[in-house]
Amino acid sequence: MRNKTVRACIFAVLAVFLLALAGTVLTLRRDGGESIEIVSDGTVVYSGPAKAEGEPVYVPVQTERGMNLVRIDAEGVCVESADCPGQECVSSGYLKSAYLPVVCLPHRLVIRFAKTPGEGAPDAVSE
Ligand SMILES: [Zn+2]
Repeated sequence: MRNKTVRACIFAVLAVFLLALAGTVLTLRRDGGESIEIVSDGTVVYSGPAKAEGEPVYVPVQTERGMNLVRIDAEGVCVESADCPGQECVSSGYLKSAYLPVVCLPHRLVIRFAKTPGEGAPDAVSE
């Protein structure tokens, strides 16, 4: 009896979780499938969706020059914290434009929108 209840509970939780996951994936895809790249010293060290629904995703980028903690959340992607002297990357906020990447000059870090292959102009979305 008890075992059955526990199993039903687990199943219910799993089902909700899977639905939420599917919803997240669908939402992300509907957003135009925009993705970002984190480039450290000319090398792409991370690429993924430009937004994260729910829990933020943290990407630490550690090089011999220093550390940048990149945060991807529902708003977009930004540098959460860094140990560079100027902190310009932190104060520049969220990545907004494909023409204006978030840059940390002292650490040679660039956060930019990735070009999705086979996709046309970024402004092709119409209501
Ligand atoms: Zn910086």
